[in-house]
Amino acid sequence: MAGVYIHVPFCYTRCSYCDFYKTTDQALKSNFISAICKEISLHPSFFSSQKIETIYLGGGTPSVLTIDELKIVFSALQNHIDLKSVTEITMEVNPDDVSENYIYDLQALGVNRISMGVQSFFDAHLRKMNRRHNSRQASRAVEIVQASGISNMSIDLIYGLPFMTNDEWKENVQTAIQLDVQHVSAYHLTIEKGTVYYDYLKKGKIKEVDEENSLIQYDYLKSSLLNAGYEAYEISNFSKPSYHSKHNSAYWTGELYLGLGPSAHSFDGKVRRWNVSDMETYYKGVMNGGTYWKDEKLTSFDRYNEIIMVGLRTEKGFEKAKLEVYFDDDLKAYFNTQVEKQVAEGGLVYHQGWYFIPDDKRFVTDAIIADLFFVEDDI
Ligand code: SF4
Repeated sequence: MAGVYIHVPFCYTRCSYCDFYKTTDQALKSNFISAICKEISLHPSFFSSQKIETIYLGGGTPSVLTIDELKIVFSALQNHIDLKSVTEITMEVNPDDVSENYIYDLQALGVNRISMGVQSFFDAHLRKMNRRHNSRQASRAVEIVQASGISNMSIDLIYGLPFMTNDEWKENVQTAIQLDVQHVSAYHLTIEKGTVYYDYLKKGKIKEVDEENSLIQYDYLKSSLLNAGYEAYEISNFSKPSYHSKHNSAYWTGELYLGLGPSAHSFDGKVRRWNVSDMETYYKGVMNGGTYWKDEKLTSFDRYNEIIMVGLRTEKGFEKAKLEVYFDDDLKAYFNTQVEKQVAEGGLVYHQGWYFIPDDKRFVTDAIIADLFFVEDDI
């Protein structure tokens, strides 16, 4: 099984917290469409050797693309993949791009899962994040998708916002539950260099939320969603049974994926590759046969760390057999020591070949991962 990710780097405005690669220059869209179609054609061996199960259009904001533009991209994909046999095709949308017609046309193209960037149901929060939609538009957009034939929808929420009270967060979680969406992704705000919030932080205009309140918000999120029948299948991802994101789950279990578009990442089982985060360089590289990516061959230690890191963020954990492939005597001894310690302390549970973090230790996931992580000095 393998996945295809397409990064659509266009946004109409820049959200204050966002450090994803994007451009607000819509004039570059036609170059992007040409380059994406060409890039799709550059990977015949990937398409012929892999069964593509999932396609994910992320960004940026893929919903700034018109249906005609999307048709060109899907037609280029169809030259290599039988889209009807792809089980999950997700597209990220912004609430104010959603209309009955747009969703109907997406469905006709084969999109069967929508991921909507809601972030908050409070207009004051949305304004402070420089989101371009309001709360009413978000609720309406959810209703439009629900009334269409697309019965698999995720919404994104952000917690740990400096200006959001715990009560407001609780209201956001309750609103999401009332909307009865199949999937919720909730991310804690991280203030990254180069964002408006980073600038605010440096100037003392905002303060990061303290750990105590972060935990209160996460605990409320998790307990409320579990009570409402969602599964906490990854630290930031919750879904109704059988609505896990197949595409993202594949990242976490080390499946192969091909990333297309500027800043997109790929993994072929041995080499990790990432496209340049610049539209002009990407376009010229793809169209003129130049290099528009960097790559690195992963060492055994890289793979070991990666399996631990992504696996332990999921409910299922990691499979010991998948890790053992990368063991030499020293790494094996190191792993056994660290794992025994964590199992004795209750940080890890072993069951039928898998290690996972039990629910009552989820809030110290990062510390447990760090304890198992291999760094050169550890041996
Ligand atoms: S959060 Fe999404 S919509 Fe906002 S700037 Fe970033 S990519 Fe664009």
